Amino acid sequence: MKLYFLHFGLLEPLAGPDPRSRSMRGYLIQTDEGENILVDTGLPGYWGEDINAALERDGMANFVRPLEFGPEHTVPGQLALIGLTVDDIDLLLLTHSDLDHLGGIDFIPESVPILLSRVERELDVPAPTNPGYYDAWPERDYTLIEQEDQELRPGIKLLSTPGHTPGHFSLLVDLPRSGPILLAVDAIKMEDEIPNTGTNVDDAVASAQRVRDIAAQTGATLIHGHDGPQWTTLRQAPEVYE
Ligand SMILES: [Zn+2]
Repeated sequence: MKLYFLHFGLLEPLAGPDPRSRSMRGYLIQTDEGENILVDTGLPGYWGEDINAALERDGMANFVRPLEFGPEHTVPGQLALIGLTVDDIDLLLLTHSDLDHLGGIDFIPESVPILLSRVERELDVPAPTNPGYYDAWPERDYTLIEQEDQELRPGIKLLSTPGHTPGHFSLLVDLPRSGPILLAVDAIKMEDEIPNTGTNVDDAVASAQRVRDIAAQTGATLIHGHDGPQWTTLRQAPEVYE
């Protein structure tokens, strides 16, 4: 099994208490059976085409400054680095529905099955932490999964980590050489974070603690979902964890 980290852009806050850079990313897991499982899709395509126009359009130009954002920081751009196209994707897992995870769904062919938490899909509109962005769910044939821990494939465990959004999942990926890697996603966005936002802050705090406990118990490398400083230390596609 192989795990690729896909670079969907790097931003820096212009204000606020935490000046650290924020990385947008997805993951590609290649199983030993040759299955390509994409985890999350990044931001909408127009973000890669003209980031400054996109930030203006989405009302964020006063809050963040782009550090690395271009057409290469999209699903097709990142897959190309490892010699793949979107037609090679066998399965898409959405960890949750925020704009920086669901936003690139238009890149994904209609034929690709999409896994998503049932309770997330039951929201009236996606992206609960980006209110007002969506007025409807993208029309897709979602395969809904229950909000509970489950084995996606041998060595790939989905961890139920609600709070940031109701249907949030983290992943524990067991790699033969690199060992276990725990992708916290937005359950822990930055290294020392105690969540104080989300659709249910108490659940978010409990989920963050649970992720830290599981990482400690399993000896997993803990990857925080938007941690720019940590991101710069990671192998990024086309480099790989095996
Ligand atoms: Zn996010």
